[in-house]
Amino acid sequence: MSTERLYFDDPFLHRFSARVVAHGAWAGAPSVVLDRTAFYPEAGGQMADHGVLGGLPVRDVQVDDDGVVHHLLALPEGGALPVPGASLEGEVDRARRRVHMALHTGQHMLSRALVDVAGAATVSSRLGATCTIDTDQDALDEARVAEAEALVNAVIDDDLPIRAFFPTPEELAALPLRRAPKVTANIRVIQMGDFDVSPCGGTHCTRSAQVGLVRVLGVERYKGKGRVLFSAGPRARRELWDEAGTLRAMGRAFTCGAAEVPTVVDKLRRELTEARESLGAARAKLAEHTAQELAAALDASADKHVVAVLEGAGPEQLRAVAARLTAQPQAVVFLAGRLPEGMAVLIARGAASGFGCGAFLKKAAEAAGGRGGGRPEHAEGRLPPGTDWTALVASLRA
Ligand SMILES: [Zn+2]
Repeated sequence: MSTERLYFDDPFLHRFSARVVAHGAWAGAPSVVLDRTAFYPEAGGQMADHGVLGGLPVRDVQVDDDGVVHHLLALPEGGALPVPGASLEGEVDRARRRVHMALHTGQHMLSRALVDVAGAATVSSRLGATCTIDTDQDALDEARVAEAEALVNAVIDDDLPIRAFFPTPEELAALPLRRAPKVTANIRVIQMGDFDVSPCGGTHCTRSAQVGLVRVLGVERYKGKGRVLFSAGPRARRELWDEAGTLRAMGRAFTCGAAEVPTVVDKLRRELTEARESLGAARAKLAEHTAQELAAALDASADKHVVAVLEGAGPEQLRAVAARLTAQPQAVVFLAGRLPEGMAVLIARGAASGFGCGAFLKKAAEAAGGRGGGRPEHAEGRLPPGTDWTALVASLRA
């Protein structure tokens, strides 16, 4: 026999008493079946209520095909379910229910507004950690969706009464339902003034202003159809406060008002680009200068080998210096750049040298505990920050 649903008449009913009529099972777990309940079982895209039943936490609520509501309780170690015949007190988690009421009512309103403004009918909706409405439109125009959002918030301001009732078949036939019912008997209808009428078994607000606000978070394509992501009520308010808090914190960090943050960020971004460009130019100049010095040392050396450590030089700078030096056909250059995160190393040779750069760097990397290798004429790698490059090269050439 189906369970009497107390939330049908009063979505604000949080405390109730009921009698255990049986123990059931849901997905292999034992459940408690009551004669009546204020707990909403997961259905129609709305999540289950949580709360306390007979002093035990309610971790899930589900409904079977016969309309029997299964309460799944979190039992303590060695604990037992309340026995059939027992009278229990139940208490629904108010805050969670209130969020679901606002999200669900907001979904009805947004689905209606999407039909009115964008001609987009709702195919399915989901009210979870993220709330979505999937429509029958291939692509949704963001401006249209914004209009629908504005319409919904105007209806919230109008504070329309919301009625949940079970119409007679004659009454039902005369109602302008937004969509066809999913069940054939005991059809429940949610009527929001003259704005929207749709069949639904969920928990809703009793006036549109109780929704507080509806906020569209994004429009995307899902499985080739237009999808709207949204939030409403206490959840939307929380998100807005969090975002405003982030913006205020940025304002404090930049010593400007919240509204000036985008301008300040733009300015900082331009300054960063300029600073990077001048740093690049300074590095190029330094590489040029270093290359000239090393070229002189190379000319002076008997074997045309040169070993050098360049402070702050990255792989690109090492390449620029090496390219200048290896223009000398007999040259072999062993370059390292000291950076905070490690030591960039490069070995390269001139066209007439027979030195094996890749093999040498591989040995050096193994000895120093880094990585590196390459072709006989050019090799690159990275060694630990504290490596003594000059001594390492000398020891391996000995
Ligand atoms: Zn509903």
